[in-house]
Amino acid sequence: MPNEPTSINPFETAKRQVDIVADLLHLDEAMREMLKNPKRELSVNFPVRMDDGSYKVFHGFRVQYNMARGPSKGGIRYHPGVTLDEVRALAAWMTWKCAVVNLPYGGAKGGVICDPKKMSKGELERLTRRYASEILPIIGPEIDIPAPDVYTDSQTMAWIMDTYSMQKGYSVPGVVTGKPISLGGSQGRGEATGRGCAYVIREAAPHAGVRVKGGTVAVQGFGNAGSIAAKILYDEQGAQIVAASDSKGGIYKADGFNPHAVEAHKEKTGSVVGFPGAKSVSNEELLQLKVDVLVPAALENVITKKNADKIQAKIVAEAANGPTVPEADTTLFEKKITVLPDILANAGGVTVSYFEWAQDIQGFFWPLPDVNRRLEQVMVQSYSDVHKVAEERKIHNRTAAYVLAIQRVADAIRIRGIYP
Ligand code: NAD
Repeated sequence: MPNEPTSINPFETAKRQVDIVADLLHLDEAMREMLKNPKRELSVNFPVRMDDGSYKVFHGFRVQYNMARGPSKGGIRYHPGVTLDEVRALAAWMTWKCAVVNLPYGGAKGGVICDPKKMSKGELERLTRRYASEILPIIGPEIDIPAPDVYTDSQTMAWIMDTYSMQKGYSVPGVVTGKPISLGGSQGRGEATGRGCAYVIREAAPHAGVRVKGGTVAVQGFGNAGSIAAKILYDEQGAQIVAASDSKGGIYKADGFNPHAVEAHKEKTGSVVGFPGAKSVSNEELLQLKVDVLVPAALENVITKKNADKIQAKIVAEAANGPTVPEADTTLFEKKITVLPDILANAGGVTVSYFEWAQDIQGFFWPLPDVNRRLEQVMVQSYSDVHKVAEERKIHNRTAAYVLAIQRVADAIRIRGIYP
């Protein structure tokens, strides 16, 4: 449900989602208030020396939404449009995402208002180190573990780890995830989101009347999450990838193409567009193709009230965060389209982040097959848990995922005696 038009305050949306589920679960007023408000928020202002010798003051946040189930986990975003309410909402959604896949984590998020595209690497390093030292008192492997998000990456995480470790006097790899493998990152983290999404599609297919082997798949957004989901569905499950797109446009081939070849074409030319033997389709047309599985893996708010009744896929697997607006959800449900909601379908990424943290703390690193096997176990179990709630309560998968997640957090609050 993290998917309202951007003009709507995302934190208001996040709170409304809690209210809807709280009604279903008959939660009382105090429990609702706990679930609707962040536990802790830190707002920081800090100076950074720019390359021309001047100093600029940046504003950043770290919000720890809920820690009843364990330390909080969530990315750090660098973007000019970051607001405290956006960070609060993203922290709430991380709480529910970690709970739906049953990781022993709460949720958090961080952000700095800046325009990373206009900053040099040196400026970004100085910004990151200063921001890290400002939030340092409230992060740590047992408290809150940041990760990359929009316009932050493994290099950003390496700088944060170093800043934290310098203060401690020894290396603390478990303070962040999404690190380079040479610094305690996990095998398989890079492809975990797409891989997790492919596992969930495989599990949902029999309930949706879809055979993945030989079935047709369209992927909007042939980036990290989308291209990897496509390759795994093709290589390991025998699906036909018939359409793919990126920001420059899309391609369609009725009898399918090899996603590895499309990837090579994109690497060479900068886009999937112009792939030999394929027809062009617009991003809007791609969403409306008659396929078995549609994987929106690009942007928010692409399935709306306007196009929901034209969606012909049997399964919509949300690799992206928030591709479907709530009004469209009802239409998809009425059309009996199986929606695999983002907090489930793209949770493979945070799951392998959890594995990375667990490996760092143990100082014992797992080979790739072990990582993938454990990821598969988590995704299979989580799909089954969500499906069960959806069937029992006769609700759609998205609401079921939120019911499961919020119930788990509320149970932790009660069992710990934080609130009876
Ligand atoms: P990415 O930048 O690697 O890929 C995004 C792709 O979308 C690119 O191919 C880009 O060209 C394409 N795109 C951009 N604008 C588009 C448009 N208007 N129409 C069609 N395609 C367009 O990013 P990513 O990491 O794959 O993330 C994609 C989505 O998945 C985001 O919503 C992200 O929040 C979500 N997600 C990613 C991860 C992860 O681990 N990578 C984890 C959880 C959620």
